[in-house]
Amino acid sequence: MTAHPFLDLQAIDSALDAISHRRVRLPEAAAVQRDTAALGEVQRAISAANARMEAAASAIGAAERESQELTTKRTRLETQLKTVIAPREAEALMSQIATLNAQRGECDDRELAALDEQAAGEAELDVQQQMVPQLEAALAASNEALATALAALDAEAADLAARRSAVVGAFPADQLATYDHVRKQFGGVGVAHLEGSHCSGCHMDLSPAELDQVKSVPVGELGECPQCGRILVR
Ligand SMILES: [Zn+2]
Repeated sequence: MTAHPFLDLQAIDSALDAISHRRVRLPEAAAVQRDTAALGEVQRAISAANARMEAAASAIGAAERESQELTTKRTRLETQLKTVIAPREAEALMSQIATLNAQRGECDDRELAALDEQAAGEAELDVQQQMVPQLEAALAASNEALATALAALDAEAADLAARRSAVVGAFPADQLATYDHVRKQFGGVGVAHLEGSHCSGCHMDLSPAELDQVKSVPVGELGECPQCGRILVR
């Protein structure tokens, strides 16, 4: 056995790493995030418009109740006024009625403002709700595109995994352990190739003595680069 199958294994593992890398950076995933955010924004605007309408409705109710109370008070004072004889008492009652009328006027203004606010909330709700179907359709489409892209990566990964199982069976367990160790140590690429006197991993030129050392490793055993410690295949 030559050390070269390790380069095959390394290539398969690097391809698997690249798939993991691509999986989390899929443009389709970014599109799903973007469309989810856009729909979320519209849903928040719908909630805000509903809250605005509820607040306006409650202000309208309060103004109507207050107006009713003021009317009741005024009716009572007007009844009193009919039975009063002393001019000073009548004057006092009329002054109170005028105050109540002014208060009712303010109350009606508040109700009108709340009615305007309610209408504005309704219009806003309408605008936002009209955007929902389009945004939901866009999100569904981008979810589908993401599922397709992920399925393609899954298929690619499954193919590589099958190739890996076929390759990996050729290695003794201790060599695989060494391979796994250096791969972790060097962030994914633990196997280097000797190119002339040059290590493709650390890009150092080996001295003639180091070269002899590397070349003296019997076939079937793992050589390592004396400079970086990667598995070095010839
Ligand atoms: Zn090296």
